[in-house]
Amino acid sequence: MRETLFAGAVIGGYFVILFLSERLLPLRRPRRSLVGRLLVNLIFAAVAFATVALTVRPAAEAMLGWTGRIHFGLLQLPAIPAAVRPVLAFLLMDLSFYWWHRANHRIPLLWRFHNVHHIDPDLDVSTAFRFHFGELAFSSAFRVAQIALIAPSPWAYGIYEVIFQAVTLFQHSNVRLPIRAERLLNRLLVTPRMHGIHHSQVREETNSNYSTIFPWWDRLHRTLGLNIPQADIEIGIPAYAAAEDNRLGNALITPFRRQRDYWRREEGTPPAREPTAVRGNRGWMSE
Ligand SMILES: [Zn+2]
Repeated sequence: MRETLFAGAVIGGYFVILFLSERLLPLRRPRRSLVGRLLVNLIFAAVAFATVALTVRPAAEAMLGWTGRIHFGLLQLPAIPAAVRPVLAFLLMDLSFYWWHRANHRIPLLWRFHNVHHIDPDLDVSTAFRFHFGELAFSSAFRVAQIALIAPSPWAYGIYEVIFQAVTLFQHSNVRLPIRAERLLNRLLVTPRMHGIHHSQVREETNSNYSTIFPWWDRLHRTLGLNIPQADIEIGIPAYAAAEDNRLGNALITPFRRQRDYWRREEGTPPAREPTAVRGNRGWMSE
């Protein structure tokens, strides 16, 4: 109980620091009122926490115990030296989550739910908690498979979870870091400019930058796109860009409704980028 309270206080404090920083030094100019969005995102967050506590966490804990008991999974292979295991576990968990995130964009049933995360018309630290409970319930099935196949130790899994959450909050935040510092940091971690491009209304840009902790997976799979200036990015999904699409009730039932043609605006045109903006080195981060 004391550990849970301590963890809650650390996450809360970290959230507040990012929240205040993005107000003081915003990266992109917000389009909608903060209070309305915050209310929607915090209610989504409350439901998300409950869903994770009821599905993802018990499923993960059961699998961690099971793989340890019957010595199942890749990292239980005796040929792998003990010292290498935690590192390998960390890398494989992050790589497999890259595939899961890509599947969430590729598979229509999963995208219906993940789309709700992308509908947010602005991107800030509160978006990091804004996941539909349906997406989280599906992700508990993924966690089971991920842990069964990789078999990280509970200790390695715990560290991975903490860093995963910390980087998720950071990359969704609207904090303007000095460009040179962000370019340097982006060699190691997914940063706000990189993930901002993943939330762009331009389809090709949303279909890039799927990594969560390490940006290397996007380089490896040729899905990296860093050369879009943040001032040119409109956040959201074109067909769901009206104010009422982001009201709480509408956002919650969106996955269960007939889906619109996501990439077309109401007037029928898909947002596109001037060719000059996308020319050049996709791996070089723009301002
Ligand atoms: Zn996504």
